[in-house]
Amino acid sequence: MTPTYKKIDSTIMNKMNKIQVLNIIHDKKIISRADIVKITGLTPPTVSRIVEQLINQDGLVKYIGVGDSNGGRPPINIAFNGSENYVIAVDLGATLIRGLLSDLNNDMQMEIQVATGLGKSYESIMDNVANVIERLLNKKGLNRDKVLGVGIGIAGLVNIKNGMVDFSPDFGWEAMNIQNSLKQRINLPFIFDNSTRLMALGELDYGLGKKYRDFVVINIGYGIAAGIVIDGKTVCGSKGKAGEFGHILVDSDTNIKCECGAYGCLEALASGRRIAALGKELFEKKKSQKLMELCRNDPGLIDAKLVFEAARSGDKDANEILETVTNYLGIGIASLVNLLDPEVIFMGGGVSSNGEIFFKPLIKAIKSHLISRDKKLDIKPATFADYATLTGAFSLVVNKIIRLESLR
Ligand SMILES: [Zn+2]
Repeated sequence: MTPTYKKIDSTIMNKMNKIQVLNIIHDKKIISRADIVKITGLTPPTVSRIVEQLINQDGLVKYIGVGDSNGGRPPINIAFNGSENYVIAVDLGATLIRGLLSDLNNDMQMEIQVATGLGKSYESIMDNVANVIERLLNKKGLNRDKVLGVGIGIAGLVNIKNGMVDFSPDFGWEAMNIQNSLKQRINLPFIFDNSTRLMALGELDYGLGKKYRDFVVINIGYGIAAGIVIDGKTVCGSKGKAGEFGHILVDSDTNIKCECGAYGCLEALASGRRIAALGKELFEKKKSQKLMELCRNDPGLIDAKLVFEAARSGDKDANEILETVTNYLGIGIASLVNLLDPEVIFMGGGVSSNGEIFFKPLIKAIKSHLISRDKKLDIKPATFADYATLTGAFSLVVNKIIRLESLR
């Protein structure tokens, strides 16, 4: 073995030990140095050296004093320094840009939201993202060096290999260099990913998903997408584009075109956008008295929420829309279950927040297409509802920090 090789080897080993110690402190929140020695099998001087570095160089750990003695030397307790370091999470959606400032313990400090400005230029939307971040910093009166990173969830095909958004039907973007655009505007380390994959990551690290290793989060709102977790890890695919569940074919006979350009995609037939369009068709055909009342005779006000409201009041036509839509979703979700065999499916996004009137026909439709003989299916609402992507964006940054990886 050459001396150079030996040196690299020990550097890697030191870093691995440091990551292991930091992760233990992060998990336990408070722990004694002696207990870290017991858990890791590292020597007491090594643990002391690593802890000193984490306190003095990284600022990620702090001393919290001497604990009670059990007869021997009293333990020196240390804690994860979550309250003095901050993360900004941003959810860049078609309607709103939402920003959240939290400390590293995931205690929310401040929230801001602005209209995305859909229809305006790409550059102005990027400016709006930067403004949300600046406003959070200013409002809290926070020094930039206290913010360890910004995590951003973007609705679209995010290619995490090259930092591009290859395609986003929501924004009408193609081949946008998000990495460069944000770098010019955000004077902080940042990282971004697809918003639905971040929903899955947030569910895995902080939600009910903590209990599971294999699950799928399905996001049904303006569009449809899935965040897939296999063996405790989010699935990215070869370029980071896995999970485009909205663009699987569920009806080859339809002439309904998807925003992606194809016909018969699940998103074209079962998204919130489609429910609203079907509601407007009812209005034009002068059907659904209830929907006419709810929109006060203005079809421009018909959205998915109003269709659900009409269905809830017993309106037959509105219920037929939900039956059509949940049947397509059932075909799609059953295919996903047949393919991946998840322990549970979490349903997120605005359409999924409609309770029983949505879940009852949906579960029936899924079961009718499942191959499994017992037809058991655990399907639950996602834990964080409107905060799902923001929680995942926060988690994306924290995971980098506790693995001592640098952000972009
Ligand atoms: Zn499509």
